[in-house]
Amino acid sequence: MIDPTRATASSLLAEQEAGRVTAEEICRAYLERIERLDGQVKAFLRVDADAALAAARAVDRRRRAGERVGALAGIPVAIKDNLCTRGELTTCGSRMLANYRPPFEATVIGKLRAADAILIGKTNLDEFAMGSSTENSAFGASRNPWDLERTPGGSSGGSAAAVAADLAPLAVGSDTGGSIRQPAALCGIVGLKPTYGRVSRYGLVAFASSLDQIGPFGHDVRDTALLLGVIAGRDAADATSVDEPVPDYLARLDEAPEGLRLGLVREFFGEGLDAEVEAAVREAVRVYESAGAVVKDVSLPHSRYGIPAYYIVAPAECSSNLARYDGTIFGHRAENYEPRTAEEESIPPLIRMMMASRSEGFGSEVKRRIMLGTFALSAGYADQYYNQALKVRRLIRNDFDAAFREVDVLVGPTSPTPAFRFGEKASDPLAMYLSDIYTVTTNLAGIAGISIPCGLTRAQLPIGLQLLAPAFAEERLLRTARVFERATDWHQRRPNLAS
Ligand code: GLN
Repeated sequence: MIDPTRATASSLLAEQEAGRVTAEEICRAYLERIERLDGQVKAFLRVDADAALAAARAVDRRRRAGERVGALAGIPVAIKDNLCTRGELTTCGSRMLANYRPPFEATVIGKLRAADAILIGKTNLDEFAMGSSTENSAFGASRNPWDLERTPGGSSGGSAAAVAADLAPLAVGSDTGGSIRQPAALCGIVGLKPTYGRVSRYGLVAFASSLDQIGPFGHDVRDTALLLGVIAGRDAADATSVDEPVPDYLARLDEAPEGLRLGLVREFFGEGLDAEVEAAVREAVRVYESAGAVVKDVSLPHSRYGIPAYYIVAPAECSSNLARYDGTIFGHRAENYEPRTAEEESIPPLIRMMMASRSEGFGSEVKRRIMLGTFALSAGYADQYYNQALKVRRLIRNDFDAAFREVDVLVGPTSPTPAFRFGEKASDPLAMYLSDIYTVTTNLAGIAGISIPCGLTRAQLPIGLQLLAPAFAEERLLRTARVFERATDWHQRRPNLAS
């Protein structure tokens, strides 16, 4: 029997089909590896071994009975803990939701269950998905399987670390400004941010509703495409999901897009880009040229306003979305909210309760965003900040539209640096925000992006290549990514985790 924890999801499907391994054996192998290694990696907040095994056995029974099984039958999938799972804890990495059990289920979770995937556990994240390292989680940081002294990136760092450490073959994350692509890059795996509207956001705890999108992680492009095909599609429960047919992403995956024109984004090679990352990305571009792609220089002139615009739009929406956590209906409720000062005595008890609950429930980064966003939206300042940011957002989108008239896919680094050490950026919000410099514009424009492994630094840290495609061109994006993968073996490298 193969070692299921060294196999891709696609090959595990074939092995089950051929009767060489059962869903239960696959599930046990991953649970055993989690047991052995997750104490070091800390990718998971919770693992439900009993439920996972029961689901796996049910798949085996149905297969034995000759019944049809779903597209992910018997494949363990790790879930970021900001996706609602009915009746089960969904914490968003926050004390605010430490005891929250949603009475409903995210559409994506329902689709995974319907495809007979095995939900193996919920993964760690920066609180409410705000961050780039998982250091903002109220439950401790996850570690990068390539170097346990470094962060896995974030905010979907737990999901990326789980796949990189072979604790699950597939994982689901969310990307508001880079939270799938950046941790995928830092952990040496594939991560895809779908077009805004491609995947239903119903049941994804909202951070910034006009930017959030759920997407897949896998070891290779095929596995990532497989998972995207299961979760994509219009959903009546999410009015922003779009009624575009979901293509069969696997059908023509190995066909290189004809006459592929790649655009090398000039602004993605500026100050702050690590030399080893730059060298690996330029080498990847040469691989594309050898494969017959035409590479052109293109410009996205408003890129430099991406971070400022994102850090107004995202906090503005966050301040509104997080207003619901006040201890009345949603979220942690403070036990003690007695007035401590004369000034507080004049505040009505209900308001004091809300103030104490929010002070206790939220961590410092979330509070910072709520304050930034509230300020950016406040009367008198909205025109200077929020409304300006919306205009910049339009210009950024126009830049992409113009670039995609010249080329099919844009290319550049995913993250300016490889994985950084704990604490290295945590004390400096701006330094942390700059790790999203190449990813946030994708979300502002609503287009699709993927990060694929394209190298290792001398210190054996993974490097990610980012490819971007127009809205709803995920199929082109995946096929383009596959061109690189066929010519290289970076996606097959694994970290050396001592057991
Ligand atoms: N790191 C970015 C932020 O902190 C993006 C987060 C995300 O995509 N969820 O907002």
